[in-house]
Amino acid sequence: MNSIPVIIFLGAPGAGKGTQAAYLSKLKSIPKISTGDMLRSAVQEDSPLGRKVQEIMKGGGLVDDQTMLNLILERIKKPDCKGGFILDGYPRNLKQAAQLEEMLPKDMRLIVINIQVSEEEVVKRIAGRRSCPKCGSVYNIYFHPPKDDEKCDLDGTPLVRRADDSEDVVRKRISTYKKETLPLIDFYKKKGVLTAINGIHQENVVADKIEEVMN
Ligand code: AMP
Repeated sequence: MNSIPVIIFLGAPGAGKGTQAAYLSKLKSIPKISTGDMLRSAVQEDSPLGRKVQEIMKGGGLVDDQTMLNLILERIKKPDCKGGFILDGYPRNLKQAAQLEEMLPKDMRLIVINIQVSEEEVVKRIAGRRSCPKCGSVYNIYFHPPKDDEKCDLDGTPLVRRADDSEDVVRKRISTYKKETLPLIDFYKKKGVLTAINGIHQENVVADKIEEVMN
């Protein structure tokens, strides 16, 4: 039976993929794999991978497919992925989607959720986005502010702005998204596994809609 869920989140930068993937990860007790988070950790640790990808990320471009494939392969081999997993930020182009198909377990159920938000909204959201460098919690100083100034609600760590969240890099990331990632919508639509969700609503409303889809 096709029972192991593999859930892919698609959507422009700032659409809410990370937030919704985190909700769903808790709800379903399966790990959320965020390639962006993995790469940012590598940059922070100043590892060879981090040094290789730092400039590409700062410029809003995509890291090469082979590097990403190695990273994902290593991650989904881990025991916590045996019961399924959620992908946030992967695949990012058609080549990666084909590579993912090759490596996925045969007894899995693929669910692709496309979170739709306008470009204007995305730019606005990213301008206010802050995250905790310690636990990864994401806030927005306009829409979802932390309780105490710009500190993490969970551990009190001062929040930071992502290096690639400046407006010019965001525009570049959106243009990379349109050129490279948008074709995935048709790719998964043709396979009959795509569900579109309107991402303009409050986080909890979007989360409820996603839960409905999952059920
Ligand atoms: P994200 O947090 O998903 O917006 O990713 C931040 C940055 O990491 C992107 O702008 C890319 O430079 C890089 N990145 C993340 N995931 C991928 C991927 N699947 N393929 C290529 N580059 C990626």
